[in-house]
Amino acid sequence: MTNQDISRVKELLDHKKKIVIVPHKGPDGDAMGSTLALKILLEGQGHYVHLIAPNAYPDFLKWMPYQEEVLIYEKEAKKCNDFIAEADVIFTLDFNHLSRAGEMYKPLQEAKAAFIMIDHHQQPDDYAEVTYSDVTMCSTCQMVYHFIENIGLAHKITPQIATCLYTGIMTDTGSFRYRSTTSQTHRVIADLIEKGADNTSIHENVFDTSSYGQLQLLGCALQNLKIVEGLRTAYITLTQEELDRHNFKKGDTEGFVNYGLSLEGIVFAAIFIENEADKIIKISLRSKGTFSVNDFARRYFEGGGHINAAGGKSDLSMQETIDKFISILPTYKTNLAL
Ligand code: 5GP
Ligand code: MN
Repeated sequence: MTNQDISRVKELLDHKKKIVIVPHKGPDGDAMGSTLALKILLEGQGHYVHLIAPNAYPDFLKWMPYQEEVLIYEKEAKKCNDFIAEADVIFTLDFNHLSRAGEMYKPLQEAKAAFIMIDHHQQPDDYAEVTYSDVTMCSTCQMVYHFIENIGLAHKITPQIATCLYTGIMTDTGSFRYRSTTSQTHRVIADLIEKGADNTSIHENVFDTSSYGQLQLLGCALQNLKIVEGLRTAYITLTQEELDRHNFKKGDTEGFVNYGLSLEGIVFAAIFIENEADKIIKISLRSKGTFSVNDFARRYFEGGGHINAAGGKSDLSMQETIDKFISILPTYKTNLAL
């Protein structure tokens, strides 16, 4: 953050304000961890804070501190619209383009509040008065930690805040294994543990709470895994019928895409998940090394993200989407073929 940004934030927060905090649509561990942490901190400072998620978040996050206070825009749009319209300050966390807020796009665009963006995705838009964007950061949660440090409130980090920030750093770094995990990340994590984050129970709460159906669905996904010969690519498909058969719930497919990358020699992995209600195929993309799935998702599947983790969607049928995907791959022969 620049000194100017820090002063502006301090000025915006120097007396009681009406604040709204927003994560991206389809909130993940980093989105929920960062927004909950900030909510707890700002409430502790005496502000009136509402955390509004565009839509529901997965069950494996439903143990997080204060998560019961999260408003879901899809369920309570009218009430949420009032909070957004009345807000003095709106924080957008873990995304950098208002279109990532789904149905909240319009009310956010019309809001008169001062916007503060904290985010680590590529190519930030310029809607915010304060843009704290750093694509080298492993997670928005680590950025919220630095944000809290920068505004001089590190001593206000409670065990609950530490728990939320630890969770997002853990989930966005694949449990501290991705290249974005730095020595500084580990120093932050060490401090969060000292401040009361219980690493073992956080890990168990997130990763050891699978349902039987979820593991069966994983089995189905692995049965469907295909390798594209010669292009070091693997992909998984899941149809709506397969999801229904295994009692799919939001979040059940989290991490499935990574199994493609665990195959020896594979550097590009994708998962295509049918969503009959939204009439789309939701796509998650992962890579190893320099092949940018952010560029790939932006160019072909209306998405984006990071160099090694991105997502997008397709309005075509499953088969047409796969055909399109496979037909694009040879364009990247220089990156993908050995
Ligand atoms: P996931 O595949 O886990 O849903 O998302 C991986 C990364 O890509 C996340 O950082 C997420 O924010 C981003 N991402 C996922 N879907 C989309 C999308 O439709 N549009 C954009 N711009 N980013 C996405
Ligand atoms: Mn993130």
